[in-house]
Parts: sequence; C-alpha cells; structure tokens
Amino acid sequence: MAGERVNLLGLPRAELEAFVATRLGAKPFRARQLMKWIYRRGAADFSAMTDLAQDFRSQLSEVARIAVPEIVAQQVSSDGTRKWMLRMDEVQGIETVYIPEPDRGTLCISSQVGCAMDCSFCSTAQQGFNRNLSVAEIVGQVWLAHRELTEAHAGGRDGAGGAPGRSGARGNITNIVFMGMGEPLANYRNVVPAMRTFLDDLGYDLSRRRVTLSTSGLVPQIYKLAEECNVALAVSLHAPNDELRNELVPINRKHPIGELLAACWHYIDKQNGRSVTFEYVMLDGVNDKPEHARQLARLLKGRPAKLNLIPFNAFPGTGYRRSPAAAILKFRDILNDHGVIATIRRTRGDDIDAACGQLAGRVTDRTLVRLGTKLTPGPRVPVEIR
Ligand code: SAH
Repeated sequence: MAGERVNLLGLPRAELEAFVATRLGAKPFRARQLMKWIYRRGAADFSAMTDLAQDFRSQLSEVARIAVPEIVAQQVSSDGTRKWMLRMDEVQGIETVYIPEPDRGTLCISSQVGCAMDCSFCSTAQQGFNRNLSVAEIVGQVWLAHRELTEAHAGGRDGAGGAPGRSGARGNITNIVFMGMGEPLANYRNVVPAMRTFLDDLGYDLSRRRVTLSTSGLVPQIYKLAEECNVALAVSLHAPNDELRNELVPINRKHPIGELLAACWHYIDKQNGRSVTFEYVMLDGVNDKPEHARQLARLLKGRPAKLNLIPFNAFPGTGYRRSPAAAILKFRDILNDHGVIATIRRTRGDDIDAACGQLAGRVTDRTLVRLGTKLTPGPRVPVEIR
C-alpha cells in the first residue's frame, strides 16, 4: 500500500544509509547515489534514476517514495520575490517565499501550519496553530522552490528567471531562513533533521552561515541547539525591556530578556559563531523611541550582536502602524553611535503579501491554543481576525 512506503525526502544521510541497508540489503553508497538524485537533480521518480540497477529501482519503489507537497498557487512580485502557497492537506496551507538579490537568493521557509507564539504584531499569530510540519514538508519547500526556479530560469513556465543562475544542488538558492510561518524551535524534532540535509554536501550543501534559524526565544531549545546543530541564529527581540516585550512577544513572560540573552551568548560561544542577529520590528509609537534605542544599546553593547530593524508590515485587522522612515533612521543612528551594529531590512514582496509577518497561509482548523491566553489569565484576550 502506498501509505506504508517510507518518504525518503529529507531523511538525513545516516538514516537513509540505515534504510537502504536494512530494507534493501544495499551498501551505503546507494544512499549517497539516491541523495544526489533527489537533491542535485531534483528527481522524485525512482524510474528516472538511470545509474541505479533496474532491480534496485523496482525494489525501492515498493518500499519507498519521494513525496513532495503540492503547490496550489504561485505569485511573483514586481521586485522578483516569489511566493508559493503549498497544500498540507484538504484545508490547510503554508507559504514559502523566495527573495532574489544581486548577490544571493534567499528562501524563507515555514516550520509549522500557523503558530502558537501569539506575537501581537504578526499575521501568522492571528491564524492560531494547527500542527508541526514533518521533515519532508520542511525539506520539500526547498525541493519545490529549487525545481520551480530552475524551470523559471530555463524560460519554463513564466520565463521570469531568478537570480543569475548557479549550478549545483541548490540552483539559485544560496541562503535558507526559517522566517516563514511558525516557530521553528517549537518543532525542534523535525527542524533539526531538515537542517542537516540543508548542510549536507550531498543535500543542499549550504554553509552553516547560510542557514538561519529565527526564534521568538525558546530558551531551553536554544541551549539544546547549541549542542546539536551549528547554524546561524536570529532572535526576535522587538523590545528592550521585559514590560514591553511581555506585550509584544508573550513567550517573554516565561523566558525574560535576561535569560534569553544569556542563552544567545552561550550559543555563540559554543558554536564558535560570529554573532546573533536580533530582529526588531519598528512599530510607530510603541517601541521606536530614542529611549528604546538607548536601552537596546545598553543590552547589546560589546556583545556578539547585530540588530536588524524591520519596518512593520501591515495586514488586515492590525492596530499597529509602521514607524515613519525618519524614526527608523534615527533609531539606527543612535544604535550605531553607541557602538551597536544596526541595519534596516528592505521590505520585499509586500505587493503580494510576502513580506515579514504577512504570511497567512491557510489555517482553517485551528486548535486556538495560544500562548498569550495560557500565560495571562488577566485582561489581554487575543481577538481572532477572519
Ligand atoms: N517564529 C520565528 C519566525 C518568525 S517570522 C520568530 O519569531 O523569529 C520572522 C520575523 O518576522 C520575526 O522576527 C517576526 O517577529 C517578524 N515579523 C512578524 N510579523 C511581522 C510584521 N507584521 N512586520 C514585520 N516583521 C514581522
């Protein structure tokens, strides 16, 4: 039965080697051949794998499959950003975004259907949480984007092309960031094996500096990650003090800023990393005053930290506004004057709702378990926006 066949997409190399050995009695190099076909050549069909013996291919198709998510829609922004909506089951969808730049191509992937973190300024949070993505659904986003970009670049479907072509496993994709829907560290079990395939030279062969995990601040998992997988770390800080961060990023009520920063410095020490990138969304009149910049500078000065200021991207029903450009520039200058490196993130793909925090996907079956409701029995009741 098809349902019993193991999906090989995203199986880390060691597991794939064990699978071919135990199920097919094959040598480890067979697993390596399979990985080349799946990731370098984008094959999803064993019959296309012409350098594998016919017998081996037919045995494989009895016990295994390569199943990728289905694309339900693709949109291309005037700035070249692409967004794909992928079907997860009958009613649920997630989004993946490709952002071309002159010197790189960044794929922004999702880790969950919806999100339970309940950050007050994020569109995904308004959707509630449905479920974690599997390893294959996470790696499948890269597999599909690679296929679509290769086709587009070859003048395929729409002929629009992406960044200048590069050959190899990842095509135009030079960086992968977990900045789509979901909290990656809340799906640790599946996110870490997926990252192993991104880093593996027979997978997508990316350097550890080009795979970025972005988290709202799940402190115990940051310590765990420091032991297990070496990738770049981004942290959604968004406020310079606990009072404000409790409101914007409710996980802060469980893991306050002091604890979070201690985990970040530990991560950098342990992983021999360069610095943590702190994301800071610029919300008009909320967290964008000069005093906030000075508080931030006190927290981060002399530390292995960079700040990335993100102009807020609006979505239907939000009560927040983007800070004026002058306020964002002033905020950056105060930080830089205090010796903290701060840059402003350029907004991409907002004409197709593909910018940070705008990914809504389609989460119709919500469990409505939201952190904010669990942590505050008091006044703040999240409003659901349909
Ligand atoms: N759960 C992860 C990934 C979230 S998306 C995390 O929290 O880091 C990546 C970034 O976009 C995060 O820093 C997130 O806080 C930010 N973001 C969310 N909503 C936004 C919005 N409406 N405008 C700008 N940035 C937003």
